[in-house]
Amino acid sequence: MNNPTTDAASATARRLLIVGPPGAGKGTQAVRVAEELGIPAISTGDIFRANVSGETELGVLAKSYMDKGEYVPDSVTNDMIRSRLAEADAQEGFLLDGYPRTLDQVEALDGMLAEADTSLDMVLLLVVETEEVIGRLVARGAEQGRSDDTEETIRHRLEVYADQTAPLIDVYEKRGLVRRVDGMASIDEVTAALREALAGR
Ligand code: AMP
Repeated sequence: MNNPTTDAASATARRLLIVGPPGAGKGTQAVRVAEELGIPAISTGDIFRANVSGETELGVLAKSYMDKGEYVPDSVTNDMIRSRLAEADAQEGFLLDGYPRTLDQVEALDGMLAEADTSLDMVLLLVVETEEVIGRLVARGAEQGRSDDTEETIRHRLEVYADQTAPLIDVYEKRGLVRRVDGMASIDEVTAALREALAGR
């Protein structure tokens, strides 16, 4: 007889990316969705910020890029994700937030998953308007004091996103993995829409 737990798990997408521009709400939604699915939400930005606070070697390096709104070099970011995905809690699924962000990172992730004999199930894309995200990020900068949430850096981060990260959507689109969700709705509505997308509705 089939194991019902395994069947239930295999029916739900569990190797996931959440993508969208800075300020789209990826972090907020990733935590909620991952909790519902019982998988870890893995945010490269959060891991870098924890290293910055802990004043590790990685943190010192990452900060020099983050403060300018530039991407941390691919080799550094890829190595960091490789070790995070090797941890026990990520073996049955994960929701990556903020990774991959470049074509080199897409290839690196493909390689890591192929080595583990797995692949991505779905790419959740949060669709938002640029002026709205600038407003959100300026507000977050004032509330949380994130050093990269100043208006000048925000504009640069959006340019870097358009240049280096938006093209990834096409790559995943060609693989048939992208599900678009309106990121302009309320936090609860976006979570509900993501749940629907994951259920294949
Ligand atoms: P986030 O919290 O996702 O907005 O990330 C904040 C900053 O961390 C970014 O502006 C980059 O400097 C750095 N960062 C986060 N994820 C990546 C990544 N996948 N590749 C390179 N840099 C990253």
